[in-house]
Amino acid sequence: MTERLYYADPYLTEFEARIVKRGHVGDAPAVVLDRTAFYPEGGGQPADRGTLNGIPVVDVQVVDGRVWHVLADEIPGTDVYGAIDWARRRDYMQQHTGQHILSQAFVRVAGAATVGFHLGATYATIDLDQTGLADATLEAVERLANRVVLENRSVHSRFVPPGELASLPLRRPPKVQQDVRVVEIEGFDCSACGGTHVRATGEVGSIKIVKTERRGDETRITFLCGERALADYARKHALVQRLVARLTCGEDEIERAIDRLEEEHRAVRRALREAEEALLSYEADALWASAHPIGHIRVISRVYRDTSPDRARRIAQMLRDRPGTVVMLACGAERPQLILARSEDVPVDVRLLLQAACQICGGRGGGRPDWAQGGGGNPDRLEDALRAAAETLRDQLARS
Ligand SMILES: [Zn+2]
Repeated sequence: MTERLYYADPYLTEFEARIVKRGHVGDAPAVVLDRTAFYPEGGGQPADRGTLNGIPVVDVQVVDGRVWHVLADEIPGTDVYGAIDWARRRDYMQQHTGQHILSQAFVRVAGAATVGFHLGATYATIDLDQTGLADATLEAVERLANRVVLENRSVHSRFVPPGELASLPLRRPPKVQQDVRVVEIEGFDCSACGGTHVRATGEVGSIKIVKTERRGDETRITFLCGERALADYARKHALVQRLVARLTCGEDEIERAIDRLEEEHRAVRRALREAEEALLSYEADALWASAHPIGHIRVISRVYRDTSPDRARRIAQMLRDRPGTVVMLACGAERPQLILARSEDVPVDVRLLLQAACQICGGRGGGRPDWAQGGGGNPDRLEDALRAAAETLRDQLARS
């Protein structure tokens, strides 16, 4: 059995030990030591990193009750000098202790129990057995948690004999029955935990809830402690400074400035739409003036090379509002579009005109007797297609 030095002293960063077993975890060489300061992954806390005799420890896992140090390379000899990555460990100790404080604060403020915990490389989460927590509740929880930090309460851990467990105000029942380790934040929280923690709450630094999301019957709380919370504050402060500079306003005026921009944006869009309508109407007038007559019907036929189908549709709509009109428009983009329409008083089925056009240029479509649209086919044959449609129109009018 490996003596786990981090239980007694989570601040121990260097130690001497002997290799008592060699093996592999996956393809990587791994060793078991007689004693270690390396924390193996477990209880929601990731494994430590560091070195044994200068060789990187890439993972630490408990397999069959043994603590395996997974190495980047084979390690010769028996005696090792171990050093753990303290910046990483200290960060995890801050987050993990912060989690105990936050979980107890949720119990006290909202009666919400923590049912899950995950500690990741950039953020940590707890899952609560409640949903619909109000913003004011979250703020009260955060206030209480940070007050406990500022009170700099001591944090103790010890192994408790089974007989004593029942007398302790444990936040959650322990997952193990033997060798139960209890972590106590003086006068605030008491819970069974095998992880590493700071020795006083002040070392946790700020505790900040940054996200809440509902997951079924639970709520996932994402939070940051210590350096992570500071880095987040710095990043957000920089963002606010950039916004203030761009909007040339004070911090408290950012939202009003955005309101103003949105209002301006709406007004500009309205003006643009009006200008577009005016332009379309002008273009419709020009087309109307250039229409050629078939009998008493004015026929407007035009192949566009750079107008969108939507714009062509709107022009066709305007023109067919005028009595005695047939409109035949084509857009010759990559995928050609044909629009054939007529005013109500013209006794012609424009679907027949569309059919005649599609026979020339390919493509297909359909519609109603007074409005038909088609697409596809050969863009180089659109002029011929519209000529064929005009022929069909002449036949139809002759018959009526
Ligand atoms: Zn813990």
